[in-house]
Amino acid sequence: MDNGRIDGELVTEHQLLELGYRKYTGADMDIYYAIDKCQHVGNCVRGNPEVFEVGRRPWIIADNGEAKKNVIVVDTCPAAALKYILHEKE
Ligand code: SF4
Repeated sequence: MDNGRIDGELVTEHQLLELGYRKYTGADMDIYYAIDKCQHVGNCVRGNPEVFEVGRRPWIIADNGEAKKNVIVVDTCPAAALKYILHEKE
């Protein structure tokens, strides 16, 4: 699943916030999470427990992982409960 897109188009923050996603800001990317879509499959936590840790607040810290690797983990979310937006590089 490409969780950087909705209907084949790159997602925007506006879209995600409208859809009820919560934003977790990072330096190189932001990760978004929608609790109502989460199936608690745990792919994210298994993918990188430094970034995704359920018992922690905030439970997602994007900067604990490399953006490229975070994208791979976010894309393993089968429920589209996780989305991401990469920041533009100058
Ligand atoms: S991979 Fe997606 S569905 Fe599974 S626990 Fe993480 S956010 Fe929820």
